[in-house]
Amino acid sequence: MPTRVSIHKFGGKALADSHAILRVIDLVLGFRGPRAIVVSALEGVTDALLSCARLAAEGDLATALAQDAALRDRHLRVLDEVAPDDADARGRVENFHTGLVAALQRVARVRRLHPRESDAIAACGECVSARIVAAAVSRFGVDAPVMDAAEFMLTDGRHGDAAPDLAASEALARPTFAAAFIRGEVCVVPGFVGSAPDGSIVTLGRGGSDLTATTLGRLLDAHEVTLWKDVPGFLTADPRIEPAARVIARLDPREASELAYYGAKVLHPRALSPLSTRTTLRIRPFSQPSADGTTISHGRLKAPSPVCAISAIVPQALLSVEGNGMLGVPGIAARTFAALAHAQISVSLISQASSEHSICFTVPEHSAAAAQEELRAAFTAELARGEIDSIGVQLGVATVAVVGSGMARVPGTAARVLDAVAKAKANVIAIAQGSSERNISFVVRAEEVAAAVRSIHSSFQLSKVGGGRAPRADGVDIILLGCGQIARTLIEQIGAVRPTHRRRLRIVGIVDTSGWIFRPRGLSERQLAGVFDRKRRGGSLATLEGARAGTPLDAIRSMAMHALSHPVLVDLSIGDTRDALRAAVEHGIDLVLANKIPLASDAASARALLIDARANGRVVLHEATVGAGLPVIDTITKLVASGDHVRSIVACPSGTLGFLFSELGRGRAFSESLRRAMRLGYTEPDPREDLSGMDVARKAIILGRMIGYEGEVGDLEIESLVPAAMRSLTRKDFLDSACDLDDAWAERSTAARERGEVLRYCAQITRGSVRVGLMSVPRESSLASLAGTDNLFAFTTARYRTNALVVSGPGAGPAVTAAGVLSDIQRVAEP
Ligand code: ADP
Ligand code: ASP
Ligand code: MG
Repeated sequence: MPTRVSIHKFGGKALADSHAILRVIDLVLGFRGPRAIVVSALEGVTDALLSCARLAAEGDLATALAQDAALRDRHLRVLDEVAPDDADARGRVENFHTGLVAALQRVARVRRLHPRESDAIAACGECVSARIVAAAVSRFGVDAPVMDAAEFMLTDGRHGDAAPDLAASEALARPTFAAAFIRGEVCVVPGFVGSAPDGSIVTLGRGGSDLTATTLGRLLDAHEVTLWKDVPGFLTADPRIEPAARVIARLDPREASELAYYGAKVLHPRALSPLSTRTTLRIRPFSQPSADGTTISHGRLKAPSPVCAISAIVPQALLSVEGNGMLGVPGIAARTFAALAHAQISVSLISQASSEHSICFTVPEHSAAAAQEELRAAFTAELARGEIDSIGVQLGVATVAVVGSGMARVPGTAARVLDAVAKAKANVIAIAQGSSERNISFVVRAEEVAAAVRSIHSSFQLSKVGGGRAPRADGVDIILLGCGQIARTLIEQIGAVRPTHRRRLRIVGIVDTSGWIFRPRGLSERQLAGVFDRKRRGGSLATLEGARAGTPLDAIRSMAMHALSHPVLVDLSIGDTRDALRAAVEHGIDLVLANKIPLASDAASARALLIDARANGRVVLHEATVGAGLPVIDTITKLVASGDHVRSIVACPSGTLGFLFSELGRGRAFSESLRRAMRLGYTEPDPREDLSGMDVARKAIILGRMIGYEGEVGDLEIESLVPAAMRSLTRKDFLDSACDLDDAWAERSTAARERGEVLRYCAQITRGSVRVGLMSVPRESSLASLAGTDNLFAFTTARYRTNALVVSGPGAGPAVTAAGVLSDIQRVAEP
């Protein structure tokens, strides 16, 4: 057998019609190496076939045949659309339907639907879809034989719910598949179907194609089995019950099997059992092939949160065997379950009070009557003697399972679960916790199940990003919006953080205007280097392998579907990112901003962002929006928090203009100073942003709004240093003609010097007004002494009335800006 075989299973929804099938084929052909495709029946076909079979058994052969004819038409139409002129495939599809008609007539004759006949009828759905898919693959020039599942998937022969016999099947499957793989063929396998020891066709139970895929994974020693579904992955709850359910990035196989067993319909209940430790099982969305979905693999999972997901089985019945005579009598439990096993009834939850007065357990509701009868027969004597009072049956209940490896040894989890159920006003009828402590199950009335699931989901914050299975409970998952120089510097600085702290910071996503790249388990150094390399060469993120195209809003919505550990969106861009930021806080993501636009744009939307954040319990830190790494925002926040009132702020908040004027003061030419500032990374990409005063105005607005200024940037008096004639030039033309300004600036600077003053570009901010422009200040003032890129902020407050509180230091450049951002991230990361 070749190494690295992959199995791809497609459920009915992925095979709804010809468009969907062509997408499936495109997806599979995009993979390399030996591959097998396991297919379900086309969407809705199994239900339709079983309904035909029932109608026939009830004697309504005409309707059954009419429904079958409609199915036949659908199958042939889809086949014609994906593989026109494939006469061989058409003939085979027609044969299956001819066989079906005969089977339905047999059933109608005997007026009984034997499980054996029902299996033969249901299996046709998969057999036909395999033919259709194989014919479609062949059209792309790839040989795609249909492997007859009945010939290699040997089972225990239990009709309707057969279990594969791994040892016997392996010997049959391996040589056939190996030969096909060597020939470079893509094998197509009908899921759900197998054969009984007597040679008859069996099915593996509803949803059985999952089990076919994992069994085949075992038989062929596949390295990966992927179940392509209509959901983004294994979710924290059934999305039809809890729309806020999130993808679980990694699941332990034991957790996954508990969930599947307890009704998480996304996986067949026994799908995990054949998997070997060498095979990774993945659940991925076929509509988003680049998304990671859920990986289920062996290996240690770190620091899980107590609960990872909730599932429920409905409808069930609760049976109880009760009586005083049971006390201390050995063997009652054994006989109870032996009787049920004899009747092939599977029990999901068992609970016995230590008084041994009663044993209760749940079974599928449709087995309740049979179970009761079986138990009455088993305990006839005890019932007659009054040792057992009754075999009680309560219909219309549901078993809910709350699962997570992290529950083990964490005290209080059961209490939290039950508390949440009580809050949903649901009544717990019975409860059980296995000694593995991986699962707490309880029984409620079926109509209360949705409310109970939702309440537990919210109590464990499974709907929040960061809730659910956080891959690392204490870490911070960083999403970068913007990937320029500051982002690169930030990543370098994260690399230099002390290892104990660094371990908690991990970059999971990078977004630009073209698209995003996202790895819920963290981007590797190599991947990060690839991103910056592409950007340096002028490429866009969306063109990187594994990246997705879309807006920042799309990016945030998509990432927010995943359970991340304390996610922080770090906005280092220079665009209008308001919609992405609002979406982030609504999805439970904290914000760290260096981008000024969101807070400096219109007052109403800036306020709305902060209000939204607060309502969602999120923080918005933005130290780097003003004064780069200097503690400016922090100072105002602390002053206000301690009850002080900031009356006015005089600020020289532009490192760029500060640098420019201090160079001018030293006699350098304007254009030369500007070029130098650009070279050192002190300016915005277009330096006119700085020279126009817009950058200072935005900073002034941000500071102003913090102390109660309610106006807009448009209301400010802003003195631009770019002459009107130069505003519409291209960036290059502007830079080329900047030397035309040299003489005028030299004159202004000399005139100021002669007055004993220097030029500074400042903002004067109060609650009532904000002014931004050039000031000529005495040479001995603190503003005059600013050198290089230094900023200065002087706060006059109720407490700092006569002498202003001054914050000053370098305020421009990637290193100090990234430092401001990093310190905000670390503040968010504080527990
Ligand atoms: P397939 O098309 O592969 O047969 P299914 O329809 O059997 O897929 O399984 C996917 C469905 O399972 C989803 O549509 C969803 O409604 C349901 N589901 C129930 N519980 C979960 C869960 N925890 N995570 C994801 N999906 C779930
Ligand atoms: N077609 C079968 C069903 O609907 C098997 C499967 O889809 O997995 O149950
Ligand atoms: Mg299924």
